[in-house]
Amino acid sequence: STAASTSPTASAVPFSFEIHPPRTDAGLPALCETIGHLAAARPQFISVTFGAGGSTGGRSLEVLTHILRETDVPPLAHLTCVGNRYEGATALIREFLDAGIESFLALRGDPPAGVDEDDVDLGDLESAAHLVQLIHRVQAERAPYTEAAIPGVPGAARLGRPRKAEIAVAAFPNGHPRSRHPREDIDALLAKQAAGATFAITQLFFHADDYLGFVCRARDAGVTIPILPGIMPITSPARLRRVLELSGEELPVELSVALEVEPTGEGRREVGVAHAAALARDVLAGGAPGIHLYAFNNHETVLATLREAGVLIDHDCKEPVR
Ligand code: FAD
Repeated sequence: STAASTSPTASAVPFSFEIHPPRTDAGLPALCETIGHLAAARPQFISVTFGAGGSTGGRSLEVLTHILRETDVPPLAHLTCVGNRYEGATALIREFLDAGIESFLALRGDPPAGVDEDDVDLGDLESAAHLVQLIHRVQAERAPYTEAAIPGVPGAARLGRPRKAEIAVAAFPNGHPRSRHPREDIDALLAKQAAGATFAITQLFFHADDYLGFVCRARDAGVTIPILPGIMPITSPARLRRVLELSGEELPVELSVALEVEPTGEGRREVGVAHAAALARDVLAGGAPGIHLYAFNNHETVLATLREAGVLIDHDCKEPVR
């Protein structure tokens, strides 16, 4: 059946997904399949993470280009400062723009595994705000894409379609693990807004009040850009331990216990989906402008979350959009 007849009925609530490039080329076909399923739900965008130090940088562009050519969903490219010098970052931004990628999530980046924060070479770009400025500068020196500029390229019509270029940035409702006081995170967000960021996506959080309180404080301080809540359905105790380690978030005791006592994988998946869906409903009720879901390259869990949250009303899509 056609994409149109199998597409789910989405509510007016905007949503988006984050995926990551596969570690090896062998993982690409499965990810492309997943992208097809995610795209069929008609998200606002699909973002693709970028490995610090460029470890999966090349494959990141490959995945972004696949989204651009094979779906109607705008791709959004994560880019990081860590491991990038000014010239290198400029060349990278040009390479992404040349490939037709116009929207970015500008990040400072995390140190590569095993490297201490203090030993990280941040290069000339010391913060995400500097990267936002650089992306703006490189974008400004380019003429808009036209179909004529890239004759014979499959998907050229899509590449030529004018789109609003977005520059997203990260926000930390419960504080960045390295920040010394809550105000520092708001100041960092204000700096990124001043540099030209068009919206923010939050680090994952486990309680709606974490997000809603942060948005309130940010608005009071003068942040006007939309702040999209980042939500991660967590479907196993091992995954929970890993994300707490990476994000520095506090252990969500109820979710942790519910996952631990659940004997089956299917049961744990239901716990994770129910928790994420409740969080999505609560932040939307509190005024969130949409939902950004960390998909972990698995479409079923995030689509189930959106259905349970009432954001995807009738997702009966069996076939991915190609
Ligand atoms: P900045 O805006 O430059 O700083 C963020 C915060 O860190 C500020 O609040 C500031 O107060 C505090 N801070 C920074 N340095 C210090 C310091 N030395 N001392 C005290 N406080 C400090 N990482 C990747 O490598 N690849 C990705 O694709 C990726 N995607 C992400 C997507 C999202 C939605 C989020 C939330 C994070 C992502 N990260 C990714 C992780 C991110 O790079 C790290 O959290 C990084 O440490 C901070 O990035 P930033 O852009 O917020 O940095």
